Amino acid sequence: MKKVVQEIKYVFTILISIHMILGDAETSETFNFETTPKRSRLMASIRQKGTSLELAVRKILDQYNVHYETNTRDLPGSPDVASREGMWAIFVHGCFWHAHENCKKATIPKRNRDFWKKKFADNKARDKQKITLLEKRGYSVLVVWECELDEPKKLNKDLHEFLTQLGSFDIERTEENNEHLG
Ligand SMILES: [Zn+2]
Repeated sequence: MKKVVQEIKYVFTILISIHMILGDAETSETFNFETTPKRSRLMASIRQKGTSLELAVRKILDQYNVHYETNTRDLPGSPDVASREGMWAIFVHGCFWHAHENCKKATIPKRNRDFWKKKFADNKARDKQKITLLEKRGYSVLVVWECELDEPKKLNKDLHEFLTQLGSFDIERTEENNEHLG
């Protein structure tokens, strides 16, 4: 019984965290992000593989019949999708957390503004460093933004261009699929 109560508490904590992430800025503000390692762990567990953004990108890659890996922990920054064989990697970023420049989804919460500004600046610096490390290893890196999913045709085109530039891509098949994807 005690265990069940603990589990319910755990699930509840996760639900609150998800709400906090998905919720608007005012809601987020009521939680203190600067806090404990426990919260950091929680945040890390939520920022996991298989988000809808990542799945959308993977779906396009599947339609292009591109081979990729999602278990990339040994690569710098563990990109969401990568190919060691093809030496490429893709990061799929949420616009809010990764502070997408000139994007209306990348708002700065009104309260605790300085805290958020610093947080976003740190996130951006970390993202940049991850890309640099991968490029140093010879990887081609693409960042796909959450808002780009609103324009699937453009996203398709961008992914197609990125993969075509890599050379190890079956273009004929791609064009077939491109028509299909329209
Ligand atoms: Zn955006």
